[in-house]
Amino acid sequence: MKVSDWTIATLGSHSALQILKGAKDEGFKTLVICLKGKEKPYQMFKVADRIILIDSYQDLIKIDQQLAKTKTVLIPHASLIAYLGEDKVEQLKMKYFGNKLILRHESDRNLERAWLKKAGIKLPKFFKTPAEIDRPTIVKFHGAQGGRNYFLTSSTKDFAKKIKPFKGQAYYLQEYIIGAPIYAHYFYSPLTKELEIFGFDKRYESNVDAIGRISVQDQLDLKSLQTSYTICGNIPVVIRESFLPLMIDYGQAVVDVSKKIVSPGLFGPFCLEMIIAPDSQIYAFEISARIVAGTNPFVAGSPYTYFNYDEPMSTGRRIAREIKNGLKSDKLNLLI
Ligand code: ATP
Repeated sequence: MKVSDWTIATLGSHSALQILKGAKDEGFKTLVICLKGKEKPYQMFKVADRIILIDSYQDLIKIDQQLAKTKTVLIPHASLIAYLGEDKVEQLKMKYFGNKLILRHESDRNLERAWLKKAGIKLPKFFKTPAEIDRPTIVKFHGAQGGRNYFLTSSTKDFAKKIKPFKGQAYYLQEYIIGAPIYAHYFYSPLTKELEIFGFDKRYESNVDAIGRISVQDQLDLKSLQTSYTICGNIPVVIRESFLPLMIDYGQAVVDVSKKIVSPGLFGPFCLEMIIAPDSQIYAFEISARIVAGTNPFVAGSPYTYFNYDEPMSTGRRIAREIKNGLKSDKLNLLI
C-alpha cells in the first residue's frame, strides 16, 4: 500500500500543526477540518494539503460518511473530544487512530482513578463529599476544559462559599499537591510493543503563573483575587535523570493495565500529568490517552527523541510513522 495514497486528517486546533507537519514529513497527504474563522494558522503554515471549512463542530458528522469511504485516518486530540463530545467521537465511521474504548476510562474520573490505581501509581487523595475536605484541595469540573474555573479550597466552609457560582455543575474534589507539575509524554507502539518517552512539559496558566509576580501584601489587598488555571501555553522541561526509571515504570504500568481493561489497550501517544512533591514522591493526577498540547514545543524533536532518532521526530510525526509502518507491514488493523 502506497503511503501517498493515504491522507492524515485532524481537526484544526490543539496540536493540528504538529500532526499535519509530521504526516507530510512521512509522505502522507494532509487534511485539516476547520471551523470557519479558525483557518488562518493552516493557511499561514503550509502543512495542510486541503482545508475543509465547517460551520459548527457537529458538521464533522455530516462529512464523516464521505471521509469513511476514503483512505483517510483521523488523528484525535483533546479539542476533537471536547468540541464533538465523546459519544459522537465514538460513533464516527471514518478511520480513527487509537482505541476509542479508552476514552471513557479517561473522561470518567472514577474509571480513570481505578485504572491508575491498578497500575500502582501514587495518586492524590480524593474526597467523596465536601465534608471530608481537610487539606488543600483543587475543585475540578467535568470534561477537559483546560483548567477553566478550577479553584482551590482548604475547608468545607470555604468550599461552600466558592462553589456558589457553579451551582448544578458536577465537580471532583482532589487533594492539591504542592510541588513541581511535570507532564510526561509517552508513545506506545502496538507494532513493536515498545514504550518511548517523547518529552516533558509544564503548563503556562493564567492567572496562577502570574500570582508569584505580585507581592504577598498586594495579593492580600486584592481581596477578590482567585487562583485560576486557564491554559495559555506549554513550557519544555528536562527532568532529573534519576526520576526517569519511575516515569518509565509508570508509563509501562498504565499500558499493561489498559490491555486488561479495554483490549487491545492504550496505544499511540499519551500523557501522565504529574506533580513531584518536595520529598521526591511522584503523584499522577490525570492521564490523557492521546496527543497532548505539551508536545507542541517539540515539533523538531525533544532531548529524548534525539537519543532514538537521527532526524527531527515530533509526536505528530511518530503517529504518522506508526501508521506508515502499519501500512507497510499490513497491520493497519492494529492501529485504526
Ligand atoms: P486537561 O484535561 O486538558 O489536562 P484539565 O482542565 O483537566 O486539563 P488539569 O490539568 O487537571 O486541567 O489541571 C489544571 C491545573 O491544575 C494544572 O496546572 C495542574 O498542574 C493543576 N493541578 C491539577 N490537579 C492537581 C493536583 N491534584 N495537585 C496540584 N496541582 C494540580
